[in-house]
Amino acid sequence: MNIILIGAPGAGKGTQAARLSRIYHLPHIATGDLFRAHMAQNTALGNKARDFMEQGVLVPDSLTVDMVDARLSEEDAAHGVILDGFPRNLPQAELFEQLLRRRGWHLDSAVYIAVPVEILVERLSGRRVCPKCGATYHVLTHPPKNDNRCDVCGTALITRPDDAPDTVRRRLAVYTEQTAPLIAYYQAQNLLRSVDGAQPVDEVTRQIQEVLAGGTI
Ligand code: AMP
Repeated sequence: MNIILIGAPGAGKGTQAARLSRIYHLPHIATGDLFRAHMAQNTALGNKARDFMEQGVLVPDSLTVDMVDARLSEEDAAHGVILDGFPRNLPQAELFEQLLRRRGWHLDSAVYIAVPVEILVERLSGRRVCPKCGATYHVLTHPPKNDNRCDVCGTALITRPDDAPDTVRRRLAVYTEQTAPLIAYYQAQNLLRSVDGAQPVDEVTRQIQEVLAGGTI
């Protein structure tokens, strides 16, 4: 089963993808995480992606699609994947279809996690992340147990540089202009499954499982 998650920054794609990965035993592939790992290791790709990411704009499609292509070639992707943050515009969606077709695979569902913009801004401004294991927290709704330390590995939490207010505004604008058109694109292919991302995390997971099983919410 190949699934993509569509949603604005802060919609909860990463949280839900991690849960779905455990439920369906499929790898969670997040292009943002892949880029951040490249940046941390100072690879050539990481250095090319850095400026774009810091500005809150999309990394060029060719770099992104080649990175996804390489990731899909890894053994654990053979039985399906949960993609989080890719595709992020129409050209990527078309190139993604070609990648799948070349392998004899297809996309099963595009899950759209809908969240009103006021909630997105509130979530992103309070978000804290663990730079080591990637766990995410929120200062109000999901604080860590020990003062600003990761519950999983104890590392000091950070604010993602691109969660700064100006960058958040730019990322939301990029989403509206470039990513939101994917909703109509997948709707037209009858692959779109929408859930209410303003609900509590468990309820969103439940809704996603339901729509993936063919039900309506
Ligand atoms: P995310 O962690 O998904 O919010 O992504 C963080 C940043 O990584 C984005 O603002 C982009 O700069 C870059 N990025 C992640 N996924 C993509 C993608 N599919 N295409 C282009 N840039 C991406």
